[in-house]
Amino acid sequence: MLLDEDVIKIVGIGDRALTILSEADKIIETRLHVDLPSEGPVSIPAYVVYHNAVRGPPCKGGIRMSLNVTLQETIELAEIMTYKNALMDLPFGGGKSSIKADSELPPREKALIMREFAHKIRAELASGAYVPAPDLGTGPREMAAIFGELHMRECVTGKPIGIGGLPGRLEATGYGVAAVTERAVKEIMDSDISDLTVGVQGFGNVGSWACTFLSERGAKIIAVTDYKGGTINREGIDVEELKAYVAKFGTVDGFGGKHLSNEDLFKLDVDILVPAAIGGVVTEENAGDIRARLIVEGANAPTTRKGEEILLKKGTVIIPDILANAGGVVASYDEWIMAKSGSRTNKKETFASIEKILTEVFDEVLSFSSDHQLSLRKSALALATIRLVRTMEARGWI
Ligand code: NAD
Repeated sequence: MLLDEDVIKIVGIGDRALTILSEADKIIETRLHVDLPSEGPVSIPAYVVYHNAVRGPPCKGGIRMSLNVTLQETIELAEIMTYKNALMDLPFGGGKSSIKADSELPPREKALIMREFAHKIRAELASGAYVPAPDLGTGPREMAAIFGELHMRECVTGKPIGIGGLPGRLEATGYGVAAVTERAVKEIMDSDISDLTVGVQGFGNVGSWACTFLSERGAKIIAVTDYKGGTINREGIDVEELKAYVAKFGTVDGFGGKHLSNEDLFKLDVDILVPAAIGGVVTEENAGDIRARLIVEGANAPTTRKGEEILLKKGTVIIPDILANAGGVVASYDEWIMAKSGSRTNKKETFASIEKILTEVFDEVLSFSSDHQLSLRKSALALATIRLVRTMEARGWI
């Protein structure tokens, strides 16, 4: 459970609300039977979890595709979405789904899997109970496959532009990471982002756009890693050139003739670290070696509890996932509204909406943190819990 004793005490949450928040509302376990050209007939485990639907339906949260997914991980990710959506004050419950398949499969095979997934959970999608979006291993193309099965624009967000996708949704999470980083640098470190160096783990959707917008704001990206390894340049990495390299070679490893391991990324002398790949990478094992003053969680759950304890004692500031990477779900809300209303918007408006909401919530979390002498994560969770409890009361759940 994400809530700990400090948050429970500060919020004064009652037993019944706590019980509701401590377990998942609904779990769907299924198998996707598909005949993949590269592998033949396979039965792929898939999970859909609604952690808490008091602010929904819909439950909102992305679809993860990886060979490493488990039901337990999906429950934990859905729980994160409950608090993220509440912190952003969105009318969404917390959901997540996972498909145990190789995200490196050819796009046409991934589309076959996605269509079968949409077919299997058609009732959830068509009723509006669950509105998915991209997560690790999925992107607009996979969301297009879901739209292709349902022909309902509001049943999925993160779609390509031509079928009702929101201009700026693709970049939204990385944009939000950059916006929150700049705010934290100014408000907490009393510094200017253009004086600072950054290391980023992950160069997929979140990591690559975070690099783009952080360097646009003046930060110097000096190291980037992905599943294969990484690259480093103390003079600063040209993000556009790195994107071109990845398009050609499928990895950041070796860019500029340089190599860097994921282990060494976390030991680097950088001002800011942005884990933007997988969970559980900042741990009690490596926290002692981390020299960055600021960690901005682009990924979900990259920091373990014990890792965080060590870092907080050293004075490292951690911007928690439910705040740092919420640009994606804020933009998803805009896309969902656009689908339901038929309205249109543009990238500038999407970015402005993310910047406004994320910096306002950031300020709220920061002042709660100084009022109550709590970490930013506990403060963000407390504010989200207050909203969840109020909604439970309003609905007569408690
Ligand atoms: P993605 O699939 O587009 O990219 C993932 C990146 O992580 C790739 O560069 C990959 O090489 C790298 N990676 C994978 N395994 C790794 C490993 N073991 N070590 C180092 N690098 C590894 O995924 P994404 O959509 O960018 O999601 C990244 C993280 O951000 C996830 O934790 C996801 O839950 C979170 N997130 C994503 C969004 C979104 O809008 N896509 C929103 C909020 C949070």
